[in-house]
Amino acid sequence: MKFELPKLPYETNALEPVIGQQTVELHYGKHFQAYINNLNNLIPGTKFENMDLVDIVKESDGPLFNNAGQALNHNIYFLSFSPNGGGEPAGELAEAIKQGFGDFENFKKEFNAAATSLFGSGWAWLAKDDAGKLSIVKEANGGNPVTKGLVPLLGFDVWEHAYYLDYQNRRPDHVNALWDIIDWKAVESRY
Ligand code: MN
Repeated sequence: MKFELPKLPYETNALEPVIGQQTVELHYGKHFQAYINNLNNLIPGTKFENMDLVDIVKESDGPLFNNAGQALNHNIYFLSFSPNGGGEPAGELAEAIKQGFGDFENFKKEFNAAATSLFGSGWAWLAKDDAGKLSIVKEANGGNPVTKGLVPLLGFDVWEHAYYLDYQNRRPDHVNALWDIIDWKAVESRY
């Protein structure tokens, strides 16, 4: 299977000022593209050739795991934003957040704490288990909760390439601003 970059459902400058145009162009156009290219170069002739991306992430290791993980992670990440985003989720996801975290504000607080306290490069995830129960999961480097049998719903990329041009060392400010562009309809559709 040949993997491709998903088309962005917004212009590269549409997420400003939360994520600047240059950051989107580099992060999506260069970093994400490189993970896809590496993945496509690593799978021919292996048992992974006809697997879908989630199965590759679950069953691979080393350079293939790193690039497949990042391909999956960035697919979810870049399709979780909208210039008209923000606010709070609705429906069953809203109910599950209430059950798991008390209320939306407390969920945000716990998620921000996970994203800002993660040492080095990695991701903070909201994930669900088979029963629909939510959890916040920290993953180093290119990790994804699918390796723990969970379904990823929302991921914040805290590699410096995600925010350094716009926020320099101020990761907490970046993480806090991301809530203003979350496309909750997209996130709800994964629940
Ligand atoms: Mn990234």
